Amino acid sequence: MYPELGLYIDGKWIRGGGRVSEPVINPATEQPIADLWHATDEDLSRALAAADRAFPTWRKTSPYERARLLRKAADVLRGRREEVALTLTLEQGKILAESRGEVDAAVDIIEWAADEGRRAYGRVVAGRTSDIRQLVVPEPVGPAAGFTPWNFPATTPARKIATALAAGCPIIIKAAEETPGTCVEIVRAFDEAGVPAGVLNLVFGKPAHVSERLISSPVIRKISFTGSVPVGKHLTRLAADGMKRVTMELGGHSPAIVFADADPVQAAKVLVSGKYRNAGQVCIAPSRFYVQKEIEDAFVSAFVAETKKLKLGDGTEPSSTMGPMANPRRIDAMNGFMDDPARGGEVLSGGSRTGNRGYFFEPTIIHNPSDDSRLMREEPFGPIAPISSFGEFDEAIAKANALPYGLAAYVFTSSTKTALAASDEIQSGMVAVNSLSMTLTETPMGGVKDSGQGYEGGTEGIEGYLHRKFVSLM
Ligand code: NAD
Repeated sequence: MYPELGLYIDGKWIRGGGRVSEPVINPATEQPIADLWHATDEDLSRALAAADRAFPTWRKTSPYERARLLRKAADVLRGRREEVALTLTLEQGKILAESRGEVDAAVDIIEWAADEGRRAYGRVVAGRTSDIRQLVVPEPVGPAAGFTPWNFPATTPARKIATALAAGCPIIIKAAEETPGTCVEIVRAFDEAGVPAGVLNLVFGKPAHVSERLISSPVIRKISFTGSVPVGKHLTRLAADGMKRVTMELGGHSPAIVFADADPVQAAKVLVSGKYRNAGQVCIAPSRFYVQKEIEDAFVSAFVAETKKLKLGDGTEPSSTMGPMANPRRIDAMNGFMDDPARGGEVLSGGSRTGNRGYFFEPTIIHNPSDDSRLMREEPFGPIAPISSFGEFDEAIAKANALPYGLAAYVFTSSTKTALAASDEIQSGMVAVNSLSMTLTETPMGGVKDSGQGYEGGTEGIEGYLHRKFVSLM
């Protein structure tokens, strides 16, 4: 059921051999499901050498051929949808329906990247005299290192691998040690599709050690990281030493502003589905709720009613609508938010860990917590929803912009004027009005302020892996 784990270096799977290992734990049962081997320093050096060797040929492989291989990998992954979704649920906890959706999204991402590689056009700039031709030529930046987290073990590696490969860059991926099986399945799909040795390498280990080794190597020219703000800043500093490109997709604390002219019941339904998806462990999840006073009561009672419909349970059970948290650190983090002396507010639902097995935390609602509480200032990354109110437009915008983050924001209103004004004023990489629609394959995902740098997805995603060389011909 759960795949055989391994490192994938220079086109070969590597297992055991006396390497240090750590157990992979099912968060719904707290039982070990596999052993994961860590890469040795020698393994990391071999992965670097393999990526370096593969680059000259891969960059010259036509975008058409690269696209063909990527599409084949997408087909292999599509064919294994059920196994990969189950793997994802077993190691990460999210319900199977979400895991299936995530595998579908990973396939979609790989296919999109394949075609973006073919559309990575250059341009011709008119010369100042008639005997000169000026070309702007896209070139792959070189081998990349990608670091992916445990909350989206399928889409985050798929995006980094497929975009790098489509652009002509080999990549070394270090996926999260807590959720390695899904990335192993994705790499297997690329392997079976016939991606040449060294173009894609997969390693695991102690994150800080692996990232320092890879980023400090002159082979690596590009770093792409998805994870927390402090780690993103640390990796950006390491990258600066070698003047390497970075794409940083970091945390947020996404405001959801519900204006009085919105339908409070509909807004609550949509926001509850966004808030508790993957037990709230989603970087773009709506996570601070500001409701205009006139509809506060109606919104809050609809939000409570919708939340109480959630059925917490093992993600493999068809009846479950919310799974466990991915690891015990998240339970500690949730307890920390609840026990914060500055929290304040009224607990309208949940509030604690539940069950005697698995990392289950109840879907929780805190009405009117203090603006100074940790819950209103730090990314909860879990199933706690703080709901607060506001009077006028400017107050809502000021609250939304008060934090150093700027990843996603949500606005609910029936007025186009309010929607446009709010989307203009909110400091955020993405704004969705009256829906949760964002991070689609074809649209750019990226944050402002501490939430990151650069983009993944959309026509912008591939730019992070390309250099624009200027060539003038006389
Ligand atoms: P963490 O900060 O220790 O780790 C976050 C991720 O970064 C993990 O995948 C981890 O393996 C990796 N990581 C940590 N140190 C690293 C290093 N030196 N080099 C390379 N990778 C490294 O925290 P955590 O307990 O795993 O997660 C907690 C917080 O991380 C959450 O509160 C959330 O803010 C953030 N997070 C964000 C995302 C996202 O999608 N942006 C995903 C996962 C976690």
